[in-house]
Amino acid sequence: MDIIKTITNFFRILEAEIHHEKMAFVYSQAYNLQLEGHVFPAVKFEQIYELALMDDEFRKAEYFEPEIASEEDLQLVHSIDYLDDFLNLRWTNSTKYSELPLNPQIVDAFRTAVGGTIKAMELTEHFPYVYNIGGGFHHSFPERAEGFCYLNDVAIAAKKYRKLHPDKKVLLIDLDVHQGNGNSLIFQDEPEVMTFSMHQENLYPLKQNSDLDVGLEDYCSGEKYLQLLRNHLTEIESGFKPDLIFYLAGADPFEEDRLGNLRLSLEDLAERDRIVKNYAVKNDARVVIVTAGGYARNTIDTVRIHLQTARVFHRK
Ligand SMILES: [Zn+2]
Repeated sequence: MDIIKTITNFFRILEAEIHHEKMAFVYSQAYNLQLEGHVFPAVKFEQIYELALMDDEFRKAEYFEPEIASEEDLQLVHSIDYLDDFLNLRWTNSTKYSELPLNPQIVDAFRTAVGGTIKAMELTEHFPYVYNIGGGFHHSFPERAEGFCYLNDVAIAAKKYRKLHPDKKVLLIDLDVHQGNGNSLIFQDEPEVMTFSMHQENLYPLKQNSDLDVGLEDYCSGEKYLQLLRNHLTEIESGFKPDLIFYLAGADPFEEDRLGNLRLSLEDLAERDRIVKNYAVKNDARVVIVTAGGYARNTIDTVRIHLQTARVFHRK
C-alpha cells in the first residue's frame, strides 16, 4: 500500500515538474474535527479543500496526502512525558491548558497535521510553494498544550528540515493575529531559525520573545499593517537570508474576526500574502504555507481568506 502511494507520488511530482507547476497542496480528511458549537471552525479545512478542487484556477495543482507523524518526529520538539499524556488521553498539567477536548480523533487530527506540515516541508524540494490546508498550531510548547494547539507542527517540521539540512536557514513569518509564543520559545536559542511574529499586542497569549516581534495596537488599519510588514521584511533582509520560510497565514487579522481586533479587509489580506510571496521570490526561498487561525463571524470568510492565500502563491 505504502509502495503504491510512493510510486504514485513520484509520478505526480514528475508530471508537475514537467508542467512547471509552482504549488502543491497537502491535505487529509483526518484534519476535520467534529467540534459543533466551538469557536474553532474545524470544518474550514474540508471547505478550503473542496473549494480548491472545484476552482478552475487550481485545476492543475497537485494534492498530496500526509502520513501520521511518527513519535520520533514529535520528539524533535515535545518532551516524552508530555507526549505520553497526550497520546494516552490523560488530562494533566501538561494537557489541560488546551481549549479543545482530548479524544482519539483529536490525537489523530493533530498527528496528521504535523505529518502534513512535514510533508509540505519535504515537497519544497520539488515545488517553490507548498500549502498545507491545516497546521499552524503555534501556541503549543515542548512540554504542554495551549489554546487550540496540542502539537507544534511548524516547529517539528522546521527542526526536521534543519536535521536534514544543517547548513540551511529557516524563517518563520507568523502573521496570525496572535503571537506565535510556542515557536518564539522553542527557537529562542537557535540562530539559524528566525522567528518573526506580527500580532495584536493587547491580546492572548502571554507573550514570549520572538527574534522579531511587532505588537500592533488595537484596530490597526490595513494600510498601517501593510507598511509595517514591508518595513520589517526589509529589515530582516539586511541581516538574515532564509532558505525556507514557514508562513503562518492566519485569517484572524481580518476586520470581521471574533477573536482579534485588527481592521484588515479581504484585499488587505491578499496584499499581505503578495508581500510575503515577493519577499520569498526576492530571496530565492521556498515557502511552506499553513492555515493557522481564523474565526470570522461567517466561517466562509475565513475559508475565502485561506483560499485567497493559495491563489496569491499559485499565480504566476
Ligand atoms: Zn490566531
